[in-house]
Amino acid sequence: MPLSQTAPAASADAARSRLHITPQTILSRSPRTGAIIGEVEVATPLQIREAVGLARLAQPAWEGIGLRRRLTFLRSLRDALYRGQNRILDMLVAEQGKVRQEATLEYLACLELVDYTLRTAPRVLRQRDVRVRLLPHRRFTIERYPYGVVLVIAPWNYPLWLSLDPIVTGLAAGNTILYKPSEYASQLGEIVASLVAEADIPREVFHILHGYGDVGQALIAAHPDYIVFTGSAATGRKVAHAAAEQVIPVTLELGGKDAAIVLADADVEEVAEGIVWSGMFNAGQTCASVERVIVLRPVAERLIAAMKQAVMRYISNGDGTPSPMLAALTTPQQMEIVQQQVQEALATGARAIIGGRRLDGDGRFYAPTILVDVTPEMRIWQEETFGPVVAVMVADTEEEAIHLANASDYGLTASLWTRDPRRAEHLARQLKVGSVSINEHLLISGVPEMPWGGVKGSGYGRTHGEQGLQEMTCIRTLNSDRWALPLEPFRYPYTAFKRSLARRATHFLYGPTLIDRLRSLR
Ligand code: NAD
Repeated sequence: MPLSQTAPAASADAARSRLHITPQTILSRSPRTGAIIGEVEVATPLQIREAVGLARLAQPAWEGIGLRRRLTFLRSLRDALYRGQNRILDMLVAEQGKVRQEATLEYLACLELVDYTLRTAPRVLRQRDVRVRLLPHRRFTIERYPYGVVLVIAPWNYPLWLSLDPIVTGLAAGNTILYKPSEYASQLGEIVASLVAEADIPREVFHILHGYGDVGQALIAAHPDYIVFTGSAATGRKVAHAAAEQVIPVTLELGGKDAAIVLADADVEEVAEGIVWSGMFNAGQTCASVERVIVLRPVAERLIAAMKQAVMRYISNGDGTPSPMLAALTTPQQMEIVQQQVQEALATGARAIIGGRRLDGDGRFYAPTILVDVTPEMRIWQEETFGPVVAVMVADTEEEAIHLANASDYGLTASLWTRDPRRAEHLARQLKVGSVSINEHLLISGVPEMPWGGVKGSGYGRTHGEQGLQEMTCIRTLNSDRWALPLEPFRYPYTAFKRSLARRATHFLYGPTLIDRLRSLR
């Protein structure tokens, strides 16, 4: 019997969606107002296959036009970015719930990143000769060439920055790009795609594919040549697993549980302002947010009071409504995680000296929160919170503070706050993280010149800086003729003369004393 006669409409829809005749859609809603912002179609398996095929087909030509031409396209992309300021900022505010000034910082970082890539790519990606002492007659060169098709899987918290960064460096290096924006940043993803189009980058070179985790998985299964994943530690593990099965190299930029260590000599008022900003910027939805404060006992009480003052001064209206300087929590899941972690901490002995609850109204806002009497076993101390919540613990010694900071599954960044720069540098070297800031915390994550990434559960690989650009390329070493030797010392036949040559060279090059080296003459 024909399907239409037996199946009710719902099962017909299900059958169509299984066959991907009717594409699913992703609806974007404002976390501030709940208003619908836009809708995109989820990529079908067929579209994924087509995109991967086209990207693969187009890659040799994109590589072949050379770096200079590719940088011309990227200059146009920077200009498109420059021209698009207002619509980009509007979208970051509408779709992610950002504060406009904070969105502006993300936007500026992107302009600087493209500019940095334009300035440095010719030097960083150029081939390099290497002198090989044992083989002076041969010429050795290190060349960099693109992987091929790079898959960029992006998160929602800095959707412009964390999309453009791997896209721009990947394109500069000669790769073609498959781009999967977060399902919570699909409209912003569309803007990214429109910037690429405005730059006249050939359509086959860059492909946007919307979707949820299953689209991410399907893209990995399509065997790209490299993956740049930015997202949570839990998803990062799945991505790493799927990539490992096919031996696809991957950069993993995962979460953090950053500690700010405040030493006993710190200027407490100043530090409180710095820490509160670094913990509450974008409502704490930054991988490098200050989530843990470890303060030395002599200044603990004063610091906590000053942090509360700083929150009240800037980002708390005090009447249950959100301050204009406070960003919304972008996703409903994020609100749940923050609420659960804080409630659990309060139920097991922590105290909120300010905040500790969801704010009133329709918007998805959580009150800026400072928790004290926290213990290391609490989830709020162990797990990434990703909300405007800072947990404080008091340490009796600097050693204890360092130990507490390092006792984490994560290792993204950390900061030290003190008036003694030498002491700070000494302690910085004991922190098991990807970067340490002194009397600052957040800015390093947005600096294109500095390699960025974590250790331990925060991932591996680096973006930004020379390393970030280089990671978009494979290394090919070249060994070619420099001059011809009268005889090949390593090849057949193995004569007594060649053995003696090897023995003499060993004495001459590695003899620890002059007498040892003179044995090369015998
Ligand atoms: P997420 O892990 O939920 O999602 C990230 C991306 O992965 C999304 O595009 C999502 O659709 C996709 N995805 C989900 N399941 C997948 C799967 N099985 N296979 C392939 N792709 C899949 O992360 P999020 O909530 O979007 O982002 C927030 C997280 O990102 C936080 O943990 C934050 O710390 C981290 N982050 C890290 C950095 C860094 O530089 N280290 C920067 C920003 C954000």
